[in-house]
Amino acid sequence: MADGRELIYYDRGTPPTGRAVADLRPLDAVAPSSEVRQDPMTGAWVTVAAHRQARTYHPPADECPLCPSREGRLSEIPAGDYQVAVFENRFPSLAGEPGTHPVPPALDDPLHSRGPGIGRCEVVCFTADHDASFADLDEDRARLVLDAWTDRTAELSVLPGVRQVYCFENRGTEIGVTLAHPHGQVYALPFVPPRTAKMIDQAARHRAATGRNLFDDLVAAERASVGSLSVGSLSTDSLSTDSPSTDSLSVERPEDSRVVLAGEYWTAFVPFAARWPYEVHLFPNRRVPDFTGLNEDERAEFPRIYLDLLRRFDRLFGDGDRQVRAPYIAAWHQAPAGHEDELALHLELFTVRRTADKLKYLAGTESGMEAFMNDVAPEFAARRLREVGQAGAATPATASRPTPGTTDDTTDEEAQR
Ligand SMILES: [Zn+2]
Repeated sequence: MADGRELIYYDRGTPPTGRAVADLRPLDAVAPSSEVRQDPMTGAWVTVAAHRQARTYHPPADECPLCPSREGRLSEIPAGDYQVAVFENRFPSLAGEPGTHPVPPALDDPLHSRGPGIGRCEVVCFTADHDASFADLDEDRARLVLDAWTDRTAELSVLPGVRQVYCFENRGTEIGVTLAHPHGQVYALPFVPPRTAKMIDQAARHRAATGRNLFDDLVAAERASVGSLSVGSLSTDSLSTDSPSTDSLSVERPEDSRVVLAGEYWTAFVPFAARWPYEVHLFPNRRVPDFTGLNEDERAEFPRIYLDLLRRFDRLFGDGDRQVRAPYIAAWHQAPAGHEDELALHLELFTVRRTADKLKYLAGTESGMEAFMNDVAPEFAARRLREVGQAGAATPATASRPTPGTTDDTTDEEAQR
């Protein structure tokens, strides 16, 4: 790119023509600087990146920096078309060149541990179509995104100082997304983030207590809840629809199973202690540390499972003709360096939407104490997500519309039963 950043195109089949286009914009190189500081009370690392205040904020659609470039309107992507494109963020939170700074940050002052914000922040554009969403992609494109995530994980995880590669997507203005174009991000982090650090501790505790892997047990237990049937033989459809032909399964499948989709190679379930109104964790049935560990069978099944999951989220809050797409965060957890033996690749997908017109805000208990209060029972959420498996599935009023006259606290009473 004009300011020296790296841009990578990923293609399946025949690449669009016109790739050799140069970035003709008169861009000055940004000189970002950021640092990481450790909270001495909790051990959590915080990234301070003051230069990001100047970044692009809700540009009009005809100035979208993620659309392909056109005559007279040059974007971040010089080509006139693309399938999947990845480039370095112009306003990265982590900006130090990996390998150019001492690692780990100096610990000479235990109350003020700090270091340069080394790492990389990349943008992953899922499609050239500005108005699409990930859920609108076809399976071929979803597979290409998976391959791009895999490639970036392989490339970034070996950079000096990088501890974890984090792939994620924020979707929806309710989440705070500032660019409408369908895209995700990849962060190469110089520290182990708090949620991962807790999982490392829990996995070690589980290993000490049982001799087994925490994630293996977790996935096996959820899959067991679908009944005595051989789970591997269940198609995702047979587990997810309420059509009469699957009634025979309901005997075998307890109503309160939290499994949403059980594929041959992947399982999606609402976690036992879900934090968010609708939260789903997706694991490959065979534990792998990160994307690079997936085999071809797992990769081949992934697009169908993942697109199905996202489309279910989009049907959760539909209201007749009005489609209320769920804002969501799709967070891919990968094992940090040194923890490949115990940590498992998985997705944590959740929406901040509780009902068609209510959002879950992180307030006093969550933001103040990191103690989540969830208004929707996980087993109810799983049932809803199974029900909306079919296009046009009816939306129960209890989940989509507050009963007139009810207060905020009773809106989800049905969900709490
Ligand atoms: Zn766009």
